[in-house]
Amino acid sequence: MNHDYETRFREIRNKVEAQQRLTLDDGIFLYDPNVPLQAVGELANWVREQKNGNVGYYNINTHLNPTNVCVYRCRFCAFRSDLRDPKGYVMNDEQILARGREATENGCTEMHIVGGLHHQKTYEWYRNMIEILHREYPKIHLKGWTAVEINWFEFQTKKSVRWVLEDLKSVGLGSMPGGGAEIFHPEVRDQLCEHKANTHAWLDIHRTAHQIGLKTNCTMLYGHVEKAFHRIDHLLRLRDLQDETGGFQVFIPLAFHPENTKLSDIKKSSALMDLRTIAISRLMLDNVQHIKAYWIMLGVETAQTALAYGADDLDGTVRHELIYHDAGATTPEFLSIDKIRGLISEAGREPIERDTIYRRVHRDPDDFKNWKSGEPVSSLASAVGSVGQ
Ligand code: SF4
Repeated sequence: MNHDYETRFREIRNKVEAQQRLTLDDGIFLYDPNVPLQAVGELANWVREQKNGNVGYYNINTHLNPTNVCVYRCRFCAFRSDLRDPKGYVMNDEQILARGREATENGCTEMHIVGGLHHQKTYEWYRNMIEILHREYPKIHLKGWTAVEINWFEFQTKKSVRWVLEDLKSVGLGSMPGGGAEIFHPEVRDQLCEHKANTHAWLDIHRTAHQIGLKTNCTMLYGHVEKAFHRIDHLLRLRDLQDETGGFQVFIPLAFHPENTKLSDIKKSSALMDLRTIAISRLMLDNVQHIKAYWIMLGVETAQTALAYGADDLDGTVRHELIYHDAGATTPEFLSIDKIRGLISEAGREPIERDTIYRRVHRDPDDFKNWKSGEPVSSLASAVGSVGQ
């Protein structure tokens, strides 16, 4: 690093160590390729160990994408289908319940439910899915419907966001995933998905979810047409909402996969950019407890490495992931429990299974499928300790 960069980086390091907030300019500076990734990563790792000790979290989960038919045409999406396209599918109740059964047999604690906004399916169809799954498999936490879907339900029902969320919660919705955030800044969002839930709607839906006691996750889709400014602007908008509500559990930076999308001429982000984004997210989002390295999108090796660059969570074993595999993700369809634990251990971290709302999962050693959620994991970080202790 040349002298000017070193001075500026030292200022940032001092701020981080003094637990002062980083600014938009600080964040943009950290994206400058003249700032060595190793330096950014070391600082982010320091914060990660302060917040989450030496733990690496994972869960045992499955995905459910009940339809890929979608009224929208987001340019980055390889998953969607037109109504009459042979690629289009819609799952029926029997198929949906079979997924619940399979999840139970595999010891899953969570079902992650997202999909397309089908032209002909009413809100009741989406609601019914939550209701029947929860009735048949009440132990499985249903993390379902992004803010984009909730916005669509609001449009369909002509009811308020609060009404929709309370109604879904009453039939078994446990929390919400963080998808649909993409990039908030209109310079970018209007190029990617001008019709679906706008930034204000996305943030307001999460605010309302937090107000009625639903925890949510938050994401950012990067590596397409955005610049460093747009990424940091995005993180700051999330940080502001988190100051207000405290309802985000984890931030998940999502690396864009260009294959089979309308942006297929864009080169996929490098592992170095992925690690830098994980590290900068850790540094900017001082009020979000967890940073997830989503192995499906990053690739297993980069996700594992990210455990030393600010991330403390690898997501889960995952079954039936379609959205990113349709966009060319070459990662496996799922990871075995031994494999995901092995990845975390090999990275020098203590693997700990969590549930969706970050409580430790305790399993019966004689019957893997018999599990219960225990204490919040926040109590663990200090117990497990930092590296070097
Ligand atoms: S990203 Fe979601 S909303 Fe956009 S086209 Fe794909 S399925 Fe539809």
